[in-house]
Amino acid sequence: MWFFSHNLTLEADSDLVLLGKLLHEEGYSRKFKEVSIGRVKIDFLERGKGEIHEVKRSKRLEKAHLFQLLYYLYYLKNLGVDVKGVLHYPLLKRTVPVELTDENIKELENVLQEMGKITALPQPPTVEKKGFCKKCSYYELCWC
Ligand code: SF4
Repeated sequence: MWFFSHNLTLEADSDLVLLGKLLHEEGYSRKFKEVSIGRVKIDFLERGKGEIHEVKRSKRLEKAHLFQLLYYLYYLKNLGVDVKGVLHYPLLKRTVPVELTDENIKELENVLQEMGKITALPQPPTVEKKGFCKKCSYYELCWC
């Protein structure tokens, strides 16, 4: 997050990102178009249903996906647009409906506050090796 917020983006090189793009090309983006609204990039939307959709290549449901979509809903709500969200997991053949509630808004605001503290640091925080590091686009930057 610190690297990304300081315009150091390596995602274009990641095989996993490429896989995500291929999944889009093979499935959803044939039917639907990506939409950028301010800071957020929505995979596709269904205006008639008032829904925004996010497609994930992951084989498991992750909290980070939920918070990403909650952030999009929150961002749009602050622009006066009230919509619901849907997470799509094509590899799992599952969809998960996502809605803003008072409780998850509070949780999201806490997360955003913590993120603000990290991005404001003058240098990246000390790295800690985690299981998911090997799949991260920044792996070489952190560990090689
Ligand atoms: S490689 Fe690990 S420590 Fe480095 S940015 Fe990725 S997740 Fe964080």
